[in-house]
Amino acid sequence: SEFTAFSLLESIIDRVSLKGYKQPTPIQKACIPVLINGSDLLGIAQTGTGKTAAFSLPIINKFGRNKIEIKAKSTRALILTPTRELASQIMQNVDDYAHGLGLNTKVVYGGVGRQAQVDAIAQGLDILVATPGRLLDLIETGDINVKALEVFVLDEADTMLDMGFFNDVQNIIAKLPKSRQTLLFSATMPAEIEVLAEAILTDPKKVQI
Ligand code: AMP
Repeated sequence: SEFTAFSLLESIIDRVSLKGYKQPTPIQKACIPVLINGSDLLGIAQTGTGKTAAFSLPIINKFGRNKIEIKAKSTRALILTPTRELASQIMQNVDDYAHGLGLNTKVVYGGVGRQAQVDAIAQGLDILVATPGRLLDLIETGDINVKALEVFVLDEADTMLDMGFFNDVQNIIAKLPKSRQTLLFSATMPAEIEVLAEAILTDPKKVQI
């Protein structure tokens, strides 16, 4: 399939075909090469376009190729999304695509016990999927350290705004290291998101689907 045209690890291409994906979707075609090159990205796209694979395959590829000793309580990538349903779906997809690569992943959200989440983060993670409230809580108690973050994905930014999570999102972003790859996805671009995108993205590639 056209997935082989991307320089993705063979195991990732195998996992994608196992899921029945015949060809990359337009957003995947536009995003994957740009993200493998390390660029920041502004993606204007809705759920259903295949954006989860568009942002997660390059992250999985990067960490699958370059394994490092992760410090306790640290994560290499953070995917921030507004709801626990979205967070669970993203985690399921990431774990499917990353199967066999030995990456450490975890999803955290509110409304469920904290301790299992704290215990899982303690060993250090390649990829953390989180909703804003619980993540901020875990950062503030020192149970997660975002100082070594390499890749930050802000998913459904406009929904974050609509749901009243914008303050939490901005507080989280303020704690991230300045040197990182940043991806922002939003279905619409209200003024607040334009301003945020301007502030957190460096020379981004813009993809609109
Ligand atoms: P998303 O927009 O990321 O929520 O993806 C929407 C749905 O499309 C999910 O069920 C994915 O598993 C599926 N999907 C993602 N990429 C592809 C692809 N290249 N071919 C077929 N289905 C896909």
